[in-house]
Amino acid sequence: MKLSYKPFTLQLKYPFSLAVNTRSITPIILINIEHKGLTGHGEASLPPYLNETQESVIRFLSKVDLSVYTSPLDAVKIMHDADQLEQGNTAAKAALDIALHDLIGQMQGKPCYELFGSNPEYMPPASFTIGMDSPGMLEKKTRENSLFRILKIKLGSETDRETVTTIRKYTDVPISVDINQGWRDKEKALKMCEWLASQDVLFVEQPFPKVNAEETAWLRERSPLPLIADESVQRLEDVENIQGVFDGINIKLMKCTGMLEAFKMIRKARSLDLKILMGCMTETSCATLAAAHLAPLCDWADLDGPFLSTNNPFPAPVIKDGKIQLGNRPGLGL
Ligand code: MG
Repeated sequence: MKLSYKPFTLQLKYPFSLAVNTRSITPIILINIEHKGLTGHGEASLPPYLNETQESVIRFLSKVDLSVYTSPLDAVKIMHDADQLEQGNTAAKAALDIALHDLIGQMQGKPCYELFGSNPEYMPPASFTIGMDSPGMLEKKTRENSLFRILKIKLGSETDRETVTTIRKYTDVPISVDINQGWRDKEKALKMCEWLASQDVLFVEQPFPKVNAEETAWLRERSPLPLIADESVQRLEDVENIQGVFDGINIKLMKCTGMLEAFKMIRKARSLDLKILMGCMTETSCATLAAAHLAPLCDWADLDGPFLSTNNPFPAPVIKDGKIQLGNRPGLGL
């Protein structure tokens, strides 16, 4: 097996504003693993708050020696060894994991979903994310997205009610809201959750800073809407800790080192009766498709990464009736 990688800059269609920052590009590393005439594709998406950079991913990958393994079928061993190599570097590890599973699928002539017992018939509708914006831009973005049947709205500022009211003027599709740790006052948060429940909102993601487990548990006991952990959950070992604090988890391949660990998190979350949102970053079709192959095992799919950019180097995933279509091509089906 031969590993190669190249930096890529994903240009975002609109500056993307969250409770924590605004940005208009996302640095990416695209990787290839070649094995017996087949090429597996992988990707590390590197939004700045994750503390990985193109340099750190290249530095990490340069330490991974795939020549000591005989086949991509060694993925469990390869990923274990990569994890032992150095802590963190979760996006770099995810790139490796995604490319290996793309290869395994191609070698076996199976789409990745078959490798994980995931049935595309159960694909949840994908949501489209709308960042914080002026009322005019909120209208434009809401009207533009007829492909998607669920919207995910970024909240966590003083204008949360106005944002939802503006969007509700132009669409009646279900909405999910992501606070990105932006709320501070639990009484206010409860009032917002009660009001959001009247606005056909499905769930509230990460209302408080991840260190505020006590406030989150307080809100969870009272909120009519489920609370989903994003920043509070990164890897498998975190899933157990959010019991009693959140109702579910947002799994992102870039946080959890890829498909293998995401699958373990799905099984763990199910065993604890937690809801599961499969999420993504601003990223290309490569990483989003990898997540989409696991999404039928989840309750919701927030998989709009490739649709938020203008220079996705791969064909965009096909969306039909609001759902990503996986088809039956082997591997990721890029
Ligand atoms: Mg989130």
